[in-house]
Amino acid sequence: MPRILVVEDDEPISRLLDSALRANGYDVCWARTAAGALAQSQVGSFDLVMLDLGLPDLDGVEVCRDLRLRQPLSVIVMLTARRDEMDVVAGLESGADDYLTKPFGMVELLARVRAHLRRTAPSDDRSSPVRLGSLHIDLMARTCRVSGTDVPLRTKEFDLLARLAREPGTALTRELLMSDVWDENWFGSTKTLDVHIAALRRKIALAAEDGDAPPAITTLRGHGYRLEVR
Ligand code: CA
Repeated sequence: MPRILVVEDDEPISRLLDSALRANGYDVCWARTAAGALAQSQVGSFDLVMLDLGLPDLDGVEVCRDLRLRQPLSVIVMLTARRDEMDVVAGLESGADDYLTKPFGMVELLARVRAHLRRTAPSDDRSSPVRLGSLHIDLMARTCRVSGTDVPLRTKEFDLLARLAREPGTALTRELLMSDVWDENWFGSTKTLDVHIAALRRKIALAAEDGDAPPAITTLRGHGYRLEVR
């Protein structure tokens, strides 16, 4: 489970971040001061640090520099209420990887966190077989079975199912699925996504044995899809 350190003195924001991140499967620690953050970074290692630049005890840019030295491998995302471009530049130069300007949307924040952690995730995570209920996916062999029956999938159908299965129970936006499965710079119609989802549902249902409830792909209107393990 990826570990995230939230450094934020504003309690309502911290609580919101904490519950959203936990709900998405992250292990969250919270520090409300720069001193607290530096102390935590000395005893534990974090995959990602979410750092508010406006802390009560130390300048955020300085904290960022210190954190970067102590946690060379973690992704640092700055949260800033300041619109001043120079602060953002100073923050990025002091070792931050990304920034979000307050007020930020939780959906965008989660998408950024996911994208960063995907980039830094160990690659062998992606090659081990996935077992979700009666659904088995072998990423190396590119095979899929439901209730022990082979499910013949086309290339993009397989990629799409593998992408959904990487984060079961998580709402994935259409944009994320399109960019991960088809093309990083996809701006066209996303109709092809719905067509592939329909094919996956049909093929999985066909292979499932009577009385067996394999994972289902739920449509989230206006958002995207989620793979549900039942
Ligand atoms: Ca603050």
